[in-house]
Amino acid sequence: MRFVITILLILAFNIANSQEKMKEYRKLTKEERTVIIDKGTERPFTGKYYNHKDKGVYKCKQCDAPLYRSNDKFDSHCGWPSFDQEIKGAVKRIPDRDGKRTEIVCNNCGGHLGHVFIGEGFTPKNTRHCVNSISLVFEEAKEHKFQKAVFASGCFWGTQYWFDKQDGVISTKVGYTGGHIKNPSYRMVCTGRTGHAEAIEVIYDPEKISYDDLVKIFFETHDQSQVNGQGPDIGHQYRSAIFYMNSDQKKIAERNIRILKSKGYGVATELNKFDIFYNAEEIHQSYYEKKGGTPYCHIYTKKF
Ligand SMILES: [Zn+2]
Repeated sequence: MRFVITILLILAFNIANSQEKMKEYRKLTKEERTVIIDKGTERPFTGKYYNHKDKGVYKCKQCDAPLYRSNDKFDSHCGWPSFDQEIKGAVKRIPDRDGKRTEIVCNNCGGHLGHVFIGEGFTPKNTRHCVNSISLVFEEAKEHKFQKAVFASGCFWGTQYWFDKQDGVISTKVGYTGGHIKNPSYRMVCTGRTGHAEAIEVIYDPEKISYDDLVKIFFETHDQSQVNGQGPDIGHQYRSAIFYMNSDQKKIAERNIRILKSKGYGVATELNKFDIFYNAEEIHQSYYEKKGGTPYCHIYTKKF
């Protein structure tokens, strides 16, 4: 008898639990169910997001789990949103019922997303997550939720390479800051006379990655002891600098500089109040992602 009661209790608990879980899921329309539950496919070029270029995060329509970042979206001209990388751990790959393709589902709720294809050569990652728009809901990178950080650590291609790899980083842009003329071009900044530093603007989700984490990544991916240069790149525009947005960021940066000095590291990093950031020309954005390869001047070294 006791055994039966135990089983009944376990069953009741499981039912309550799954009902609790269902409550967290969005109620799906008939069209959404056709794709997300019954693994259908929306018609190409009809979805909301195949041509969508805003900055932010694509979440699971059913359970709201973040799945893809706008930085990883590319134009494949196939009629569905295409991404060459998922947010780490967010998407599960399973063999499709057709015995050929690989299906992708939300790793949290199991909702159908689409298929993943390898080896098509669209981007250096050689991977295309072909996702139904209807399986996704987009959340724009708003600064009231997401926050901004700006760092300069030499050639901005290498700085961006490292920050793009971090979970919790929503988007990045390379550009120029800290100078005294408006709208500088790469060529102007290269003279070293505009006062600008090659820099990166990072939009991040503070619930996933802290400013302290970002500052540590900044210091661990360049030589902060080098004055007015980074590796072979010499000049004021390649200086090491943190451009803080507020007094909290300033304190966190100062604390990390103190830690580095206490460990015997030299620190030439400037601490400046952020003023204005000018995006660099498109050819410099996501440079290593477009060209492949790894930075010549930014190597990860554990320091903290
Ligand atoms: Zn989900």
